[in-house]
Amino acid sequence: MKYFQLIILSLLIGFSTPIFGQTASENSLPRVHILATGGTIAGSGDSHTKAAYKAGEVPIEELLNAVPEIHEKAKITGEQIANIGSQDIDIKTWLKLSNRIQEIFQNDEADAVVITHGTDTMEETAYFLSLTVNADNPVVLVGAMRPSTAMSQDGNRNLLDAVTVAAAKESKNIGVVVAMNEYIFSAKDVDKTHTTNTNAFQSHNFGPMGIVFDGKVKFYHQPLQVLKPFKTTDLNSLPRVDIFYGYTDADPKIIDFAIENQTKGIVFAGVGNGNFSKEMEKALTKAVKKGIKVVRSSRINQGRVTLENEVDDEKLGFIVADDLNPQKARILLMLALTKTQDKEEIQEMFLGQ
Ligand code: ASP
Repeated sequence: MKYFQLIILSLLIGFSTPIFGQTASENSLPRVHILATGGTIAGSGDSHTKAAYKAGEVPIEELLNAVPEIHEKAKITGEQIANIGSQDIDIKTWLKLSNRIQEIFQNDEADAVVITHGTDTMEETAYFLSLTVNADNPVVLVGAMRPSTAMSQDGNRNLLDAVTVAAAKESKNIGVVVAMNEYIFSAKDVDKTHTTNTNAFQSHNFGPMGIVFDGKVKFYHQPLQVLKPFKTTDLNSLPRVDIFYGYTDADPKIIDFAIENQTKGIVFAGVGNGNFSKEMEKALTKAVKKGIKVVRSSRINQGRVTLENEVDDEKLGFIVADDLNPQKARILLMLALTKTQDKEEIQEMFLGQ
């Protein structure tokens, strides 16, 4: 090979070989920072074909190395926030995540954030972040239903899709979303709807916002978020809010438990349009008189809970959750209580989100 050919060859190699994990062409790519929290996407099991596994085992480096294609979509950086099953995520972890994301965007450390997360409580973390991160940059949560060691595992594809969404020019002002199984869901509308299937997420009322397929993102609609983000940077905890579940002949004494435990709010996952028995109504009215905010949500996963339908909300002092499921209504009530104790103002937040 001639001398000048060698020079050209070495220049070409120089440009395509990663230098400190970064190629020249990567410099023009959007910067996506990955925050890993654990879950099945970082889970491993002994058998290729059986369901048993432990969530939150695989560290972030391994997760990212398993999907080299993400480096074609974005300049990737990452950090481990936790490595736990999402059933163990707590309010402290939410605050840590939210504050860290805020810092990343304020310091211009990245253009978008992807969070790897267990699927069990992913909708809650997503909704919490959608109410607390004050930035327009995309924040995409992603997980897996099958551990990384399983046959036909879904984590690698979901991670690539999540990075694709985070890096896409179409993803302007999408806020916090969940990318699972080729769909893109808004944090507010998404629910986990299957215990084991890979198609485990849906938005019952309004459908997914868009689709990610073959490396391309297409949005069909976008939710309106009119609530101003809550400021959480100075908080270490949130006011206690408990959820109670409605069923035939439910014992109203459970409400006394909440009163004794100094809860600040109750979300009641009522039957139908957020209904409960007369005895339960008495117990909940007693809680309202003690200054506890009571929100009527529903155990039904479609539709809204509406004011003054079968329950005299005005007279009894109840708030309705509108279309928020009980676990999301709890999040909004906890955050609302950091700002106000005014029932009407809180009701406006539920109707306005
Ligand atoms: N229990 C797991 C978790 O939420 C389930 C999953 O990730 O799919 O962390």
